[in-house]
Amino acid sequence: MKLDTKIIHGGVFGDPHTGAVSVPIYQVSTYKQVRVNEHKGYEYSRTGNPTREALEKLIADLENGVRGFAFASGMAAIHTVLSLFHQGDHIIVGDDVYGGTFRIVEQVMRNHGIQYTFVDTSDLAQVESAITFNTKAILMETPTNPLLKVTDIRALSSLCQQNDLLLIVDNTFLTPYWQNPLDHGADIVVHSATKYLGGHSDVVAGLVVVNDQQLGERIHFLQNAIGGVLGPQDSWLLIRGIKTLGLRMKQHESNAMTIAHWLVEHPKVKKTYYPGLSSHPGHQLAARQARGFGGIISFDVGSRQAVDRLLENVRYFILAESLGAVESLISTPPRMTHASIPAERREELGITDGLVRISVGLEDVEDLIGDLSNALDF
Ligand SMILES: *Cc1c(COP(=O)(O)O)cnc(C)c1O
Repeated sequence: MKLDTKIIHGGVFGDPHTGAVSVPIYQVSTYKQVRVNEHKGYEYSRTGNPTREALEKLIADLENGVRGFAFASGMAAIHTVLSLFHQGDHIIVGDDVYGGTFRIVEQVMRNHGIQYTFVDTSDLAQVESAITFNTKAILMETPTNPLLKVTDIRALSSLCQQNDLLLIVDNTFLTPYWQNPLDHGADIVVHSATKYLGGHSDVVAGLVVVNDQQLGERIHFLQNAIGGVLGPQDSWLLIRGIKTLGLRMKQHESNAMTIAHWLVEHPKVKKTYYPGLSSHPGHQLAARQARGFGGIISFDVGSRQAVDRLLENVRYFILAESLGAVESLISTPPRMTHASIPAERREELGITDGLVRISVGLEDVEDLIGDLSNALDF
């Protein structure tokens, strides 16, 4: 089955009982048992719900994994995965991961006795030298947020195999439409499905996929034990969003590519970060391990004042956190998504005060360029 077909026919198709072509919303908490512990596969909706299960099968199919899990948010998904580890374990984390990931690691999991080292995962030598006797996993994003650095998943996966570590990849930015980390040797894929998978700024959700049944059992145990599951209504919304994932991702990318090339030429733009540009340091690698470059662009306009002028004068780009929606969004990472990272650390990472990140939506690209052009010249 080709990818565009799998998006429509993967997972569970419709409802076998009625022929409905859309999976029903099973708005239910508990299920009748015939006798004690004798039931039809469902006993309580935290443990399993048919609508959520349809979504979980779909994402497992799209990521070429064996088992998927749906959570109430991307952070709930990440929290559940991090709960695989114990006091005294050490985890290597990408140094420009999503701000919320940085926060849960620094301010929640660290208090539970789990140790972390932040490294630039695009530099294999740095990763290798961070491995210690108690290292259990590597958690990374590629491309990263907001600087769009690209990490070689296969190279990191070999390193993980040699050292008996789990490789966890946050695939939110590219989605399974453009990139399948499990195919390159990752053990666990996590998603904030709030972004491209949902795609319409109307649902908060997280997903996890594994390609090993035993690991799947452990994640299922944690999903049920911790309980941060996605409700049936939101599961259904996500299934609906995913049906147009292919169409959307293609258009996001086409618009982003046009805008990135335009930004590079703009005199007020100091630097443009987009893996689809041949000038981007990760371009070759991105082209090799993914089928597309995505719809996120970061660029530097030089100062906080210039950022404010731009943000105040755009019309179609909506000033908002988040990304991956049909509408174009604009933000300034140092004061928004990455504000929880200390200032000196941000400076080290290159998340400068003049940095702007856009999530290119599905509007007409000429309108989007006109909008940026106006606001930059203001
Ligand atoms: C948004 C995001 C998250 C967190 O997901 P929520 O759904 O907001 O909880 C995690 N990772 C990445 C890369 C994200 O963009």
